[in-house]
Amino acid sequence: MRTRSKFQPTVLIVTTLVLISRGISAWADEEAAASVALSVRSDGRWTVVETPNFRCRCQLPEADAKRLAECCEAWRNRLRKIWITDATTANWLPRCEVCVHPGKAAYNLALNRPNDVSVGSTMMNFDQGRTVLRRIDVRADASDWSNAALPHELTHVVLGERFGGHALPRWADEGIAMLSESTEKHHERLVNLRENLARRQTLRMEELVNASRMPAPHLRDAFYGQSVALTSLLIRQSTPARFADFIEQSQRQGIDGALNQHYKVNGLVALQREWDQWTRTPETMEFVSLQLHMGLEPIVASAIDR
Ligand SMILES: [Zn+2]
Repeated sequence: MRTRSKFQPTVLIVTTLVLISRGISAWADEEAAASVALSVRSDGRWTVVETPNFRCRCQLPEADAKRLAECCEAWRNRLRKIWITDATTANWLPRCEVCVHPGKAAYNLALNRPNDVSVGSTMMNFDQGRTVLRRIDVRADASDWSNAALPHELTHVVLGERFGGHALPRWADEGIAMLSESTEKHHERLVNLRENLARRQTLRMEELVNASRMPAPHLRDAFYGQSVALTSLLIRQSTPARFADFIEQSQRQGIDGALNQHYKVNGLVALQREWDQWTRTPETMEFVSLQLHMGLEPIVASAIDR
């Protein structure tokens, strides 16, 4: 969902990720553990960990809270290397707030969205190109939150930096964010997409790339699956950074010319042909996985104080 901030002349981007599941797992990142400056404090039931770029609030054991903040720093570094070719070394100011809610009720209350069934959400405010708010909320009662929802939402934040507050096309914003998800989540999305293809319940390429809001519920799985599939199809032909350039150009000059220049694809009609060709053998479809590229390894599941 995207909406405009009601209190500042800023652009507010809100994205949500829907994953309904249970349980919790935490992730380690070997590089992250190296040298991140941490400050830890308690705030009632919450543990608050600050690093140079993040302020993480959670109700996890302190060791997991620290690990969470370290992973955020490591993921930020890696995602910026992938998506921002001229990234500076400057820290994010303001820091990115990461709030890990113990469950749906706390999450929905914090977002003031009583009927929301998402498990992750990103909010960014921009003022004349400058970022004035970065915030991620995730639900710790969703299994895989730490290796699917959190990396997904963090990717949205990095994309906010890459595009300087200019909204990406919905399919590309979600398509890129999904590349950071776990192998298990990709498998789930792929199974859903294959079912949608079998039922012929998918969007035409023109509908997909022009969608400015979430499609109707019966097409939502198809939208997510097609978005990550199309993003993967194009990235395979070049690099993630080139794909980001393509999106930028398509925003400025239209998608037909951008497709031609970056991928030698003669506009949306030709893209539809490529898509049809690719999906003719759905069993061979795969998504590009930056999660594997980033080399993250799972560690032990931990209990949560609900
Ligand atoms: Zn998203």
